[in-house]
Parts: sequence; C-alpha cells; structure tokens
Amino acid sequence: MTATLIDGKAFAAKVRAQVAAHVTTLKDKHGITPGLAVVLVGEDPASQVYVRSKGRMTVEVGMNSYEHKLDADTSEADLLAVVEKLNNDPDVHGILVQLPLPKHLDSDLVINSIDPAKDVDGFHISNVGLLGTGQKSMVPCTPLGSLMMLRDHHGSLSGLNAVVLGRSNIVGKPMAQLLLNESCTVTIAHSRTRDLADVVRRADIVVAAVGRPQMVPGDWIKPGATVIDVGINRIDAPENGPGKTRLVGDVDFDSCVEVAGAITPVPGGVGPMTIACLLANTVTACCRANGLDEPEGLTA
Ligand code: NDP
Repeated sequence: MTATLIDGKAFAAKVRAQVAAHVTTLKDKHGITPGLAVVLVGEDPASQVYVRSKGRMTVEVGMNSYEHKLDADTSEADLLAVVEKLNNDPDVHGILVQLPLPKHLDSDLVINSIDPAKDVDGFHISNVGLLGTGQKSMVPCTPLGSLMMLRDHHGSLSGLNAVVLGRSNIVGKPMAQLLLNESCTVTIAHSRTRDLADVVRRADIVVAAVGRPQMVPGDWIKPGATVIDVGINRIDAPENGPGKTRLVGDVDFDSCVEVAGAITPVPGGVGPMTIACLLANTVTACCRANGLDEPEGLTA
C-alpha cells in the first residue's frame, strides 16, 4: 500500500482563503479589522523567522499585524506591562507571546497574563481548562490544524483508536483532548511508555509529536492507519552536498508511507497549518469580542 498524502500546504492555503473571506466580511459589513499582536523578546533566530512569517501572513489575509520587539534583557514587569496594554487595546483581538522566552522570564506567568479571550495560542490556563471540559475555548494552533486535517480525511473520528506520541502542553496534551472530544479512544504515549511499538500498532490514528527525527518506523504502523507527523527536525543531509541539512518529521516517512492509509509529509504537512490556524483563531477571537457569529469550520 502507498498512503494518500495529506497536503498541509494546500489545506493551509484553503484555511487562509476562508480567513481572508471572513476578514473582508468583517471589514465591509461591520467596519472591523481583526488585529494580531506578536511579542518577541530577544533575538532567537528561529523565533525571528516565525514572527516575520506570522506578520506577513497576517497582512496577506487582510488583518492588522502589530509587532512588539523587546530586548533580550527586558524585565518581567516591562513585558507584563506590554501585555496589559495589548489586553486593553480594542484594535488587538489576538495576542501571541513568542516562545521560548529568555530564561529570566516566567513563561507561565506571562502567558497567564494574556486576556484569555485574546489568547490565540490557546496556552492560557483558562483556555486549557475550557478545552479540558469540552467548552468553547481558544485551541492551540498545531493540534487544531492536525484535527482539521483528520476531520477532512475521515469525516467522523468517533470510536477510532488514537495514539498521541508526546505529552507536551503545546502539542501532545491538547491534541489528546481534542481527539477525546471527537469521541476517539485516546492513548497518550511518552518517554516512559512500555512497548511503544505495540501501543502504536493498535492505533487507527497516530499523531507523532516527540521531537526525535524519524523515530517511528513503518512496522509500528497498523496497515491503513492515518499518520499525522508533527515533528520538525533538522538532520544532516550529505547526499545534498557537504554541510547540507534537511527537515524530517518524527516518523520515518519512507517506511510509513508504504503501510499507512494516509500520512502528512514533513515539510508541507502540519507546519503550514499552524500559522493558518493562528490566523483562524484571531478571526474567531475578533468575532467573539464583537458578539458576531463565529466562522464555521475554523474552530474545534
Ligand atoms: P516536547 O519536547 O515538549 O515534548 C516531547 C514529548 O515527546 C515529551 O512528552 C516526551 O516524553 C516525548 N518523548 C520524547 N522522547 C520519546 C521517546 N523516545 N519515546 C516516546 N516519547 C518520547 O516537544 P513538543 O511537543 O514541543 O514538540 C514535538 C515535536 O513537534 C518537535 O519536533 C517540534 O519541533 C514539533 N513541533 C511542530 C510544530 C508545527 O508547527 N508543526 C509546532 C510545535 C512543535 P516525556 O514527557 O516523558 O519527556
């Protein structure tokens, strides 16, 4: 068997087009332009790249983008003051503090200082609690994007066995919660899980978010299962020339594609969906803030 490729790049373009259409309606009918504020502390090169592409795509869908770049040695009080100002700014509907923060800053404290209604990353403790109790919340972008692709591929997920590899607050736990809310039977595996291969072999859906390059081989995959590869790992690629690298996921694509029913590639799978869902969350937050109907299909 050769798996169907789930094209995250094309799917993300579709989501962004839906977002853009909603933005146009918000502007034309209600005179509201959704706004996303991104706060970057320090000069981490990867974070700078992410923030730049978030800003560019925000503008591309017609929203306002506000970037706040703060020095690496910014004090916690100063950062909290920036967040507070954004919380009170009616033109800002979404706030994202780019992680990781420099070590002297308490990430939990900062994230929990964001107005939960503007917490488009979905990391605020209130949103975690709302998601955990099946209530309307802001949903973390990477799991939301993964869920959208699964729903699109399967229709109903009810009753399917799902195994989530990884239990981080950013990906693994919210992903498991979303799948549970879809009535999957969910197993969360982690570094202490015994006989991981056997656990994964029982899954109709595998979501891999471990941060270990090509860790899941094809012979762990149940024939016909759907594999969502969240991992983004850079490895050496001498075959492309001296000193060259390439991106790979947490699953071994070449062997898994032979067994799975459907699979997301890396790059071009979950990655593009993450920013698309950030934009979707900003539109959702804007609609909620203004008492308007939420866009359909862009939330969990
Ligand atoms: P974390 O490092 O926070 O969590 C990794 C999880 O994997 C932990 O729960 C850990 O278990 C588990 N784990 C590690 N090694 C093993 C192992 N050998 N067997 C089983 N479980 C293991 O990572 P994140 O959740 O933040 O990210 C995971 C991956 O997803 C990374 O590659 C990251 O780059 C990528 N990512 C991609 C995004 C996208 O947009 N596509 C967005 C966010 C992340 P334990 O808890 O026991 O330590």
